[in-house]
Amino acid sequence: MIRSRWKLLLSLLLLAWAGLASAAPVGHEFPIGSTCFASGTLQTSYREIAQDRSRWTCQPGGASIVGQRSFVRFDMHGRKAIENPVLTTRLTLFSAMRVTAIGTSGEIRSLAFGRDDMAFATDDWLMRVALPRLSQPVASYVAEFDLPRHVGVLTAASVGPAPRAMDVGRSELVIAWLCGLLCVPLVLNFAFFRVLRQRFVLWHAAAVLFMLIQTVVSSGLINRFVSLSMMELSVLSAGSWGMAITTASLFISDLIEPGKLDRIQVTMLRWLGPWVIAWSYIYLFAADPIRPLSAQGYLASYVPVILVFAWAFMTAASRGSRAILFQIVAWAPMMLTGALRILSALGLFEVPIELMLEQHISIGFEVVVTSIGVADRFMAIKRQRDHALAHTKILEGLAARDPLTGLYNRRGIEERFDDLTEEGFATMALLDLDHFKVINDTMGHATGDAVLQAVAVALGADEDTLAVRIGGEEFLLLLRGKDGPERAERRRKSIPARIAAEIPGLDRLVTASMGMVTCTSPVRFSELYSRCDHLLYEAKAAGRNRTEREVLTPQPLRETGATVVNLR
Ligand code: GH3
Ligand code: MG
Ligand code: MG
Repeated sequence: MIRSRWKLLLSLLLLAWAGLASAAPVGHEFPIGSTCFASGTLQTSYREIAQDRSRWTCQPGGASIVGQRSFVRFDMHGRKAIENPVLTTRLTLFSAMRVTAIGTSGEIRSLAFGRDDMAFATDDWLMRVALPRLSQPVASYVAEFDLPRHVGVLTAASVGPAPRAMDVGRSELVIAWLCGLLCVPLVLNFAFFRVLRQRFVLWHAAAVLFMLIQTVVSSGLINRFVSLSMMELSVLSAGSWGMAITTASLFISDLIEPGKLDRIQVTMLRWLGPWVIAWSYIYLFAADPIRPLSAQGYLASYVPVILVFAWAFMTAASRGSRAILFQIVAWAPMMLTGALRILSALGLFEVPIELMLEQHISIGFEVVVTSIGVADRFMAIKRQRDHALAHTKILEGLAARDPLTGLYNRRGIEERFDDLTEEGFATMALLDLDHFKVINDTMGHATGDAVLQAVAVALGADEDTLAVRIGGEEFLLLLRGKDGPERAERRRKSIPARIAAEIPGLDRLVTASMGMVTCTSPVRFSELYSRCDHLLYEAKAAGRNRTEREVLTPQPLRETGATVVNLR
């Protein structure tokens, strides 16, 4: 009985103590070990609101940056004491901040920081400051941010020991490996461009470059190499992402085969970049009252990007585009990550605020798959081009050849004449069959044709002897080498025997007359041809079945006249 009375007294005493404790000034009514959020104006102090439990929320979903000053309070009761305590949170622009440590016996110490006093992580998009140390156990830490731009500065905030170098080194290595991976397509693109001057190859190179910058910056790896201000980091991160979207959209609109996208889709793809960049600007620089909403607006600006991409992908795929299939696979993880972030920002889905690792992996995946897609498109275009080139060559060849004899025609040789002269074809011989009309008249046109084909064989074209049918029964030889004139003469002389061998029933020998000029310096085709024609006429006049030959000497020597040699 007595014992139970004592028990009752003890319980009452405990209840009274608990009641007194709850009225203590440093907010013991916060749940043990909780992280709670509050906001106010730039005049609001922690002291003012610490007592008013209604101003605080301890749900991460309730955190808000709508007020000018945002508070996050870490209750340290029930947590292990931290030797080198640091506050780590999402790297976010703000105008000023303060961290306060409150001791269990009422000791209070505060430190104020500007945004360039923050230390930036080298393995994530995070910033850190050292927390004040107290001589007594810490009851709570409070961080205040003035005019922050992203709610993540509250929801991602944590108090803990300074990170160990070993852990940091490992994640840096993974990011560095990913960045190395991104460098490969960057180099490959320039190699592709040298072979195939397609604009989409350059857009892809630019997109890879900006994705590389985005990864180096947003992973924090850049802080290992250079010391940048928070504003520089923020501009680089948002800017590189905006430029990556810009160049990737231009890349897609150029890459897709012609006719697989509507004009409206191409136009929309081209405007996605400026749209995202405009929102990046608002996100980074808009003043109140837009500032608290700018991060959400920026995130929401990606909704049209995802929709336009999806629309373009579906349209091109339904029209049988092969290039788009690679793009659909390449962008799927990135679009999924983006959609999750947007859904999460709208409160429809709970995911970690940044999905940074997912973003890095999605970028790596996009670049690798797109590079395979570029190589595939590259091969397709090259195949098409080779095919077209071969076709053109065939057509050109047909146009340059005489259908009856298969020899070059005049056009085929005249167009290339300057090049041929440079290559050493210095002798031109013009041949005309003697009394050919008689063959036609007595043996028929078909025999006449067979005679012309036999002449083509007798002219024996080789790499130093080009044979041309000028028209009718008139042929031309272009010869390279000192022995050109002798080779031409041998060929002329072989004509009767060759014709006789090819057309057995022929009752006469068919001979040829020839006018031949060798020039010692470059001359125009028409000039050389008319000299040959003149000599041929002389050969005919002199009785046919013979050659009139001339050497055209260079200009200064010409005063002495051309040497005329008669060959019989
Ligand atoms: P000359 O010794 O003075 O050169 O006498 P020719 O009979 O060879 O010369 P002419 O210019 O009088 O006659 C050329 C003939 O060649 C006239 C034409 O019917 C014939 N000819 C032109 N082209 C062809 C052809 O493709 N096939 C055949 N069978 N005959 C052709
Ligand atoms: Mg003739
Ligand atoms: Mg003739």
